[in-house]
Amino acid sequence: VDPARDVVLAVDIGGTKMATGLMTLQGELIDRAQVPVDHDLSAQELFGSLTGIVDQLVERATDHHDRRLIAVGVGSAGPITRNVETVSPVNITAWRDYPLRSKLMEHTALPVHGDLDAKALALAEGWLGAAQGRQNFLAMVVSTGVGGGIVLDGQLLDGATTNAGHIGHVIVEPNGRRCGCGSRGCLEAEASGRAIEAITGRPPTEPSYETMQRTGELVGRAVASVCNLLDLDLAVVGGSVALGFGATFFNSAQTTLDQHARLDYSSGARITPARLGDRGPLIGAGAVALRGLRRDARANRVR
Ligand SMILES: [Zn+2]
Repeated sequence: VDPARDVVLAVDIGGTKMATGLMTLQGELIDRAQVPVDHDLSAQELFGSLTGIVDQLVERATDHHDRRLIAVGVGSAGPITRNVETVSPVNITAWRDYPLRSKLMEHTALPVHGDLDAKALALAEGWLGAAQGRQNFLAMVVSTGVGGGIVLDGQLLDGATTNAGHIGHVIVEPNGRRCGCGSRGCLEAEASGRAIEAITGRPPTEPSYETMQRTGELVGRAVASVCNLLDLDLAVVGGSVALGFGATFFNSAQTTLDQHARLDYSSGARITPARLGDRGPLIGAGAVALRGLRRDARANRVR
């Protein structure tokens, strides 16, 4: 590894767009590209549009930036299986159990590491963002859907099937709206952009004051449960809905968190906006690549 010259290719897979970036080992994005997700494409055609922006940056890494690519990191909308062996993003219907990791390895001839987008964001915000240097925190995204990742004792939690931290299905309204998961009253069924549009008949970009306040309250309720459960005192919240609702949302979330996190260790827990903005998803994907490389190196030493 040459810290001055090596870069990783970061890949962010979302429901509306896919993005790629070249990230230095210090977390600086030196180039990026993106393409909208065309929902009329077949699985293979969609991969073709992704490799378009992959190839563009692979070429620019050497020709334009004089850098060496050492790995690929992916942050993907869920559900996924471990290390993006397969991805089935809810809003990308062409990809169901799509073998993204093997496809990207074959295409780039580089090691590929992947994780859920919200977990990737947790790595990014803990590394360079609002949770910098913190050993225990929750990071979450309130956007079209709701997702999250938890860092506990300095480690990003994976869980049995790599879905740990999915706060979108914590119950916030008993007997509330039916959720896509089959349950009722999940945070995602009450406070996601999709839910807000279904409830209010208006897009989340045109919220009423009540909508912003209620969404904050529901998020605060879920965060309080997680802080009480896991001994956390910080939640970093990103995503277009939360950040778009701004201070009204964050004040309401904080007030609700204060009401429900009352234990010695959880009282005083803070909800704060994500700090990396639109760089967060790509820095997160890059951080997933670096974590994967470290794990590989450890495994090789043991062997
Ligand atoms: Zn649910």
